[in-house]
Amino acid sequence: MRDFAAELEQRREAGLYRVRRQMSGPHQPLLTADGDPVLAFCSNDYLGLASHPELVAAATSGLDEHGLGGASSHLICGHHGEHHRLEDKLAAFTRRSGALFFSTGYMANVGVITALAGKGDTIFSDALNHASIIDGCRLSGASVRIYPHGDTATLAEQLAATEGHKLVVTDGVFSMDGDIAPLRELATLCRRHDALLVVDDAHGFGCIGPQGRGAVLEAGLTEDNVPLVVGTLGKAFGTSGAFVAGPPLLLDYLVQKARSYIYTTAMPPALATASCRSVELVEQDEHRRTHLTRLINRFRSEAATMGYDLMPSATPIQPIMIGDPREAIRLSGELEKRGLLVTAIRPPTVPHGESRLRVTFSASHTDEQLDQLLAALRESAPKIVADRALSSV
Ligand code: PMP
Repeated sequence: MRDFAAELEQRREAGLYRVRRQMSGPHQPLLTADGDPVLAFCSNDYLGLASHPELVAAATSGLDEHGLGGASSHLICGHHGEHHRLEDKLAAFTRRSGALFFSTGYMANVGVITALAGKGDTIFSDALNHASIIDGCRLSGASVRIYPHGDTATLAEQLAATEGHKLVVTDGVFSMDGDIAPLRELATLCRRHDALLVVDDAHGFGCIGPQGRGAVLEAGLTEDNVPLVVGTLGKAFGTSGAFVAGPPLLLDYLVQKARSYIYTTAMPPALATASCRSVELVEQDEHRRTHLTRLINRFRSEAATMGYDLMPSATPIQPIMIGDPREAIRLSGELEKRGLLVTAIRPPTVPHGESRLRVTFSASHTDEQLDQLLAALRESAPKIVADRALSSV
């Protein structure tokens, strides 16, 4: 038998071993992790809606009215009126003809990509795309061409040199770097080369664009230029589930062919009830985005002054680049001793040599909580900055 224990030990030695922390209490910046109180700067609850009383109330009334279990897949007898109501809301929110509710963003990406591309087709995928896109590409059986991150010139060459059906897929906001894909250039290239463009804006919806309608609308693009967008409800929307939005023809095709849509139990209808309310809050409550932007800007200017290496990101994802995975773990541990939870992100989630602390902000963070993070970073800065200088010599 393969020596699994030895493999795990190697991981540990390389600083790549992953651990699960046990949280308790509702998700908000002040959490209990393995029994200790911590202030978290690592969740994707960007608008602070995950424990919002109105969403909890909506879910509770949904439970009372519709019960708990999804009971069946959508195409057997699980497609509930509440799922349908949510799809209509999401279509209106994204300014698209329709939307299809998936159980998770992971499943949405896998479903869309495997349904729309197969043997004989070619998928073009950004080098920093999310794991669910990578897995969709692998499962599809299509040829996959990875283009360097955001490099539209290389993508143009690849598209020009390829025959047959082409699908281009990209994160909207990149999950580990926080930057935004060059969506306008991608849309132009896809039109020129007759390729279908799919944008997964899991981290953009709720945070970016007019009333949080996402990076595609922020770039001035519509369903005509970007036929399909994928979004998750598990981040800024504060609930769970995901959606694909676009023209009826493609959504119908997905209902027929996306295996991760067809062969799984529908999400509890009450969750869709809560998500409907969440879409309304995301649209209406501009003050959350305003506060979030202020926090992000303050963090960036102060952390840069301390000498930290930040990424060109204007989104709630603000990685502090470290490099070595063991160093990233060490800094994460140091912050934790000061009561702060900021997860170290290491390969294979990010490329080798690019381990980092993925700091994320939420509208539910207060200015005082940001002060606490900055104070802890200020104490750790001299060592991190000096180590970085040494390693670059
Ligand atoms: N796409 C991106 C870009 C993501 O970052 C994630 C989650 N980390 C997903 C898809 C998956 O979404 P979900 O958590 O709803 O499965």
